[in-house]
Amino acid sequence: MHIALLGTGLMGEPLARRLLAEGHTVTVWNRSPGKTEALAEEGAEVATYPHDAISEADWVITMVANADAIREVLLNNESRPALAGRRVLNMATIGPHEARALAEEVAAAGGELMECTVLGSIPEARSGSLILMVGGTVEQFDAAGPLLAAFGTNPLHIGEVGQATALKLAMNQLIAGLTTSFALSLGLVQREGLDVEQFMAVLRDSALYAPTFDKKLGRMLEGSYGSPNFPLEHLLKDVNLMEDAARKDGLDASLMVTIGRLLERAEGQGLGQADYSALLEAITSRGE
Ligand code: NAP
Repeated sequence: MHIALLGTGLMGEPLARRLLAEGHTVTVWNRSPGKTEALAEEGAEVATYPHDAISEADWVITMVANADAIREVLLNNESRPALAGRRVLNMATIGPHEARALAEEVAAAGGELMECTVLGSIPEARSGSLILMVGGTVEQFDAAGPLLAAFGTNPLHIGEVGQATALKLAMNQLIAGLTTSFALSLGLVQREGLDVEQFMAVLRDSALYAPTFDKKLGRMLEGSYGSPNFPLEHLLKDVNLMEDAARKDGLDASLMVTIGRLLERAEGQGLGQADYSALLEAITSRGE
């Protein structure tokens, strides 16, 4: 298959490598051209504009930051006509309402948009072991099978477009909530002069433990947030998306408002590109 992959950032780059390794013909495009150079050496074709990549492809994958970026690459005046007859697979994390609106706009341009949201990060993208949550028709799900095989072993058909996106947000708000709660507990343990190892030992033995706590403990203790798999600014995006989705569904979204404020404060401390566990710095105000 000939696949266009738009967006070769932290996640798009390993996805492109997986497609190449599976023997697909891959055309990549990225707003900042430097991020496609290594892929060109691996055999990817590099497009100068999104529409050049789209017009050659059987499938178009979007892995850019957010819905505005997807709209900019897919629905600009040059790309829109190139969508006629093409299948688009969005893999970025956006809002359910945004996903449905994009699907309608792509359909109006004569194409089809389905979604595959992913759980896992760069290591899982590299090894082809992402958890794949697909939103689209049964026919679209079946058609995407050979493509998705590059990214994970057991794609799940969640429902229609927007529903896999909703499930992804339901999972990512847990990342935000668990990390915020853990950071607050860790802050208290430290301020009260308690032994961190003893705190962790009690936590690990309890029903309250989540593996993510140990994954983030080292970074939090050392204040070392460099080379992130998932930058704080993207968690802030997802918290805002969750807040919006929850409100639209008539749920109380105040938890997301609070976490969003903490993440904005951390971003104001220059930590937007840092690992999201840097939200501890907003809780302790260490970065101020
Ligand atoms: P990233 O490294 O920040 O990549 C973002 C990509 O979007 C870059 O290619 C960037 O281009 C592009 N972009 C941003 N604004 C754009 C615009 N206006 N027009 C065109 N391109 C634009 O982030 P990432 O981790 O790969 O994330 C991509 C998506 O996957 C996000 O929706 C994220 O939430 C989701 N996701 C991430 C993870 C993870 O663990 N990292 C896991 C699951 C899902 P430039 O290079 O020019 O900036």
